[in-house]
Amino acid sequence: MHAIIAGSGLVGALTAFALKQVGIESTLYDQVDLVNAAMKSGGGPVVVEFGESGGCVLLACSALRVLRTLGLLDEVMAASSPSQYTTWFKINGTSRIALDAVKVSADCGETDPALRAPVQIMRSKLHSIFIQAYCDGVIAQFADGTTAVGDFLVGADGIHSATRRAIFGESTKAEFTGVIGHIGVVKTKEHGIDLKETLAFYIDREKKQMAWAFKVTEELGAVQVMTFNDPIPVEGEEYRPYSDLPKESTRLADMMASWGVPKHVEEMMRKSFRISPAAIYDLKDLPTFHKGRVVLLGDSAHGMVPNAGLGLLTGIEDVGVLLELFRHYQDEKDIPTVFNLYSKLRVPRGHNASLRSREMAKQYYTGSSGIGHFKLRVGIFLFNHNLMKYHNVYDCPAEVNAAITATL
Ligand SMILES: Cc1cc2nc3c(=O)[nH]c(=O)nc-3n(C[C@H](O)[C@H](O)[C@H](O)COP(=O)(O)OP(=O)(O)OC[C@H]3O[C@@H](n4cnc5c(N)ncnc54)[C@H](O)[C@@H]3O)c2cc1C
Repeated sequence: MHAIIAGSGLVGALTAFALKQVGIESTLYDQVDLVNAAMKSGGGPVVVEFGESGGCVLLACSALRVLRTLGLLDEVMAASSPSQYTTWFKINGTSRIALDAVKVSADCGETDPALRAPVQIMRSKLHSIFIQAYCDGVIAQFADGTTAVGDFLVGADGIHSATRRAIFGESTKAEFTGVIGHIGVVKTKEHGIDLKETLAFYIDREKKQMAWAFKVTEELGAVQVMTFNDPIPVEGEEYRPYSDLPKESTRLADMMASWGVPKHVEEMMRKSFRISPAAIYDLKDLPTFHKGRVVLLGDSAHGMVPNAGLGLLTGIEDVGVLLELFRHYQDEKDIPTVFNLYSKLRVPRGHNASLRSREMAKQYYTGSSGIGHFKLRVGIFLFNHNLMKYHNVYDCPAEVNAAITATL
């Protein structure tokens, strides 16, 4: 069989590699020449800008399980660093709340201690690992109007997916949430910035201002600033539309200083060498992730707001499920069965991740600083003490086996 994959981002590249493991060759298409850039780098750091989504990503155990199945776990682990605690603060760095992610993963059923800590990795590094894993077999093509023939089409072209809109219509266009921001990458060690927290969120719920600071490696950090495009004017204060957020690190750092963020967070932005803009969109829940011989994976199926750090995790699970399904069904005539089972398994999981992400965004952007922060503290206490489950560990082979057995 031969697959056409629209989008060679993180999910598209990983899909190509996964399909190759079950004997399905792919042609990867992208609107930009990411494959070529990754291949040219010869294993070194890839100088590729990821547009709206630079910086780093956090991957929790369900995604790490898929990478282990694909034989990529060691390489990803070597390029990333574990993040035991996720922390939240008020915008000025007070009132620390910490989620013990390692304990929570164990409580939620992660049996492998090596996978319990979520890991942080530079997005560009992760992408080069995925692309280079498949380098030999890649046939890269770009959006130049040519046509291609394959047995099925994978839409992995992100939250604004043209594939999705072509099969389900323009009503499935992603919607702008009003939140915009910028992500900076900074050489923390070189600038003497000491990050005590590996993953920290600083929030002003009333003003709807937020800063995120990540320790990615001993040398590198990432910093993110986010706010609503049009904050509601505060009485007595000058109305300041954020539709014109400054793009340079100095002006962004000055703006963050005016919000009252801790000095080291402001410094991270001031010293950032790469700034990527991020406009946050959300996608309405789709009733199915396939139609005919077209299947959607990653953000094209379930693009979500980034507040819960679940987008890529959910996309990597998609890849894991498709891989396991094609292990069972190898004949081209089985494609409808594969896609039906894929939607059956992935639609509820995608909807759940989108819902949790929306709820987290709501918790960040509504309520007062005092009560909102207190509610978050109560929620995290419940997770830390296993009084509520933080997530479900998703094991793709087990999920697929159960779904296939149910059809017999
Ligand atoms: C600020 C921010 C922080 C995030 N943090 C996390 C996190 O910590 N953990 C996590 O799990 N997730 C996180 N996410 C979500 C994660 O980034 C996405 O879920 C992930 O990038 C989706 O991968 P994808 O390959 O589906 O889509 P994308 O990464 O968007 O890739 C889509 C690809 O398709 C290409 N393309 C687009 N249109 C076309 C076309 N018409 N033809 C051909 N190619 C096309 C693009 O060029 C791109 O290469 C975050 C998102 C944001 C915005």
